[in-house]
This record gives sequence, structure tokens and C-alpha cells, in this order.
Amino acid sequence: MEFTDRVLKCIDCGAEFVFTAGEQTFFYDKQFQNDPKRCKPCKAKRSRSARRVRPETRTTCSACGLETTVPFRPTQGRPVLCRSCFQKQQAQPHGADFAARTSASA
Ligand SMILES: [Zn+2]
Ligand SMILES: [Zn+2]
Repeated sequence: MEFTDRVLKCIDCGAEFVFTAGEQTFFYDKQFQNDPKRCKPCKAKRSRSARRVRPETRTTCSACGLETTVPFRPTQGRPVLCRSCFQKQQAQPHGADFAARTSASA
């Protein structure tokens, strides 16, 4: 089976991309029935975002009171920190007096 480069159109961004003979050989080997539908950047974007699918829960930061989203379900009664407060707390060895320190410096 001989393959030649083909130009396909990405269904996401509409850009034309080359389905190379080498890739077609690969598809043929794998017995893939369908042509690739997306250009490489869009494919990369999709696989990245697919991996990032996590439940995002809207909540309020216990430290600064800002609305934030967290990639987990907050446990009732446990403080939830926004990203920046969380990082600030991580940077401090004593997380317990974190709240007192921030209110003092604010
Ligand atoms: Zn694309
Ligand atoms: Zn915060």
C-alpha cells in the first residue's frame, strides 16, 4: 500500500494540516478507520484538557473570603483556601497562625 501526503482540515480551528504518508501508514497498521480530525495543536490541546477534567466546586476562601473554585469537594467544617492563600500557607511552616498574621498585615 502506497501513501501520499494528504491535506486535511481541522474540525476545531479549520486550519489545514498534512496527514503525512508516514502517519497514514501508521493508521493503516493500526487499522484505524477514520482520518485524523484535528491538527496537532488542537489534538494536544484536547488531550491536555481531557486530563484536566476534574470536578470544580465553587466555594469561598476561609482566609481572604474571595470566591474561588477548588478541584475537590470541600469537606463540611474544614477551611478551604483559594490558590494564593493555599500557597502562602504552604510557604509558612506554621499554618495555624496564618490567619492571624494576614489580618495583622492587612
Ligand atoms: Zn486545529
Ligand atoms: Zn484566599
